[in-house]
Amino acid sequence: MLSNLATRDVETLLHPYTNLSAHRGTGPLVLERGDGVHVYDTEGRPYIEGMAGLWCTALGYSNAELAEAARAQMGRLPFGHLFSGRSHDPAIELAETLKELMPIPTSKIFFCSSGSEANDTQVKLAWYYNNALGRPNKKKIIGRLKGYHGVTVASASMTGLTANHADWDLPLPGFLHVATPHHYRGAEPGESEEAYSARLAADLEETILREGPETVAAFIAEPVMGAGGAIVPPRGYFEAIQAVLARYEVRLIADEVICGFGRLGTWFGGQALGMRADSLSFAKAVTSGYVPLGGLSVDPALYDVLVAQSEKLGTFGHGTTYSGHPVASAVALKTIEIYRRDRIVEGAASKAPQFQARLAALADHAIVGEARGIGLIGGLEIVADKASKRQYDPKAGVAARCVAFAQGEGLIVRPLAGDRVAVCPPLIIAPDEIDALFDRLTRALDRTRDWIRAQGLE
Ligand code: PMP
Repeated sequence: MLSNLATRDVETLLHPYTNLSAHRGTGPLVLERGDGVHVYDTEGRPYIEGMAGLWCTALGYSNAELAEAARAQMGRLPFGHLFSGRSHDPAIELAETLKELMPIPTSKIFFCSSGSEANDTQVKLAWYYNNALGRPNKKKIIGRLKGYHGVTVASASMTGLTANHADWDLPLPGFLHVATPHHYRGAEPGESEEAYSARLAADLEETILREGPETVAAFIAEPVMGAGGAIVPPRGYFEAIQAVLARYEVRLIADEVICGFGRLGTWFGGQALGMRADSLSFAKAVTSGYVPLGGLSVDPALYDVLVAQSEKLGTFGHGTTYSGHPVASAVALKTIEIYRRDRIVEGAASKAPQFQARLAALADHAIVGEARGIGLIGGLEIVADKASKRQYDPKAGVAARCVAFAQGEGLIVRPLAGDRVAVCPPLIIAPDEIDALFDRLTRALDRTRDWIRAQGLE
C-alpha cells in the first residue's frame, strides 16, 4: 500500500531517470529533511546519503551558512541578469573567484543553470569559434561510450549511454563516440594501463583521421566517468589523448560537473589525472547542490575570437534568463568560501585512503568483479563470474536490487547501467560515517548474494 504522498506522486509526477512502469507499483522514496550526511524519509527513517544527492551536496544537508547566503541575497537583489551588459556584484565576484581557481588558462566565466546547459554551450562555442575562424567544416564532436554530459539535444548527443539515445533520435549527426577507458573491461589480457592508454589514443587518432581532422572540432571527457560507472581512466590516458588532440587542433573540453570542487581530493578532477583542457564545464558542487548553477571557463584565444566576431555581428547571441543568477551566485560564493576556510578539498584528500581501502576490500566479495575509485568517489561492478567477468542478465536488475537492499540498511547509493553501483558521499563525511557507509554496503551485497542464490540466477 502506497502512502498518501506516494499515491499523489504516482498520480502527478513524471520522474526523470526512472523506470516509469515499475514506479507505478513501487512508488517513490519521499525524503523530508536532511542533516549532515543523513537524509530522513517521511517516516523519520535516516539514511546515509551515499550519493551526495546526485553527486552534488558536498557540504551535506544542513548548512545554515548557505541558507543564510540565499536568504540575504533574496532580500537584497533576488533577480538580476547579465544581458545587454547589465551586471550585479554576486556574479562579478563569483566570476573573479572562479577565474582564480581555474586550473587552465581562463579569460572569462560563462554562467548557466545546469551541467547540461554548460555542455550544450561548449558545443555551440566550438561551432561558433570554427565558423569565426573560417573553418565551417570543423564541427564534429567526439565523446566516449558511457560518458555522461547531460540531456539537452547536444549534451545528450555527446553522452554515450543507450538510454539517452534509443528512441530519442540521438545522437545528432556529427557526434561520435570512442571507447570507454575502462581497463577492467577494455584491456587485452596482460595489457598494462599505459599500453592500454596508448592503444586508446591510437584509436582516437584513427577516428580523427578517418573523419578528416578538418571536420573535428572538439573532444569531451569527464576526468572520472560518473554515470557510466565511476570509471577511473588508466594511467597515462589523458597525456596520450592530449597529444593526439593537439596534433589536429581539436579542443579538449573537461566535463568537471561531478569531479569539480574537490571530489578527487583536488579542486578539479583534471588536476589529479594530468588533464589539461581548453575549457572546463562545472555545476553541482559549485553550490553544493543547494541551488542550480552551472558554467564554463572561456580561454583567452576563444574570448578574443568572440570579441572579434561581435565587431562583425553585433550581439553575442547566447545566454539564458538565469545566466549568473544572483541568488545562485551568492550561494556559490559562500560554498567556495567554506571549501577554502574549512579546507574541504584537503579533507577529501586526507579521507580518501580510508574510503578507497574500504572500497577496494569489497573486490573480495563473491559478487563483485571490480571495486574502483579515486578520492571520495567509487564504483562497484557486480558480476556472475569473477574469472570471466560475465554479468547477470540485465533484466534481473541485480544492481537495482543491491541498491534497494542498501536502502533497507539505511544507505542511499545509485545503480548504474551494467550492474554498477556508485558511491559518492558528501565531502564532509566523517571517518566513522565512511565506516558505517561501507558496513551497510557490505550487508547490502551479502543480501544481494543471498537473493541471487534464492532466485537461482546464473
Ligand atoms: N556532466 C556530468 C559529468 C554529469 O554527471 C551531469 C549530471 N549528472 C551532467 C553533465 C548534467 O548535469 P545536469 O543534470 O545539471 O544537467
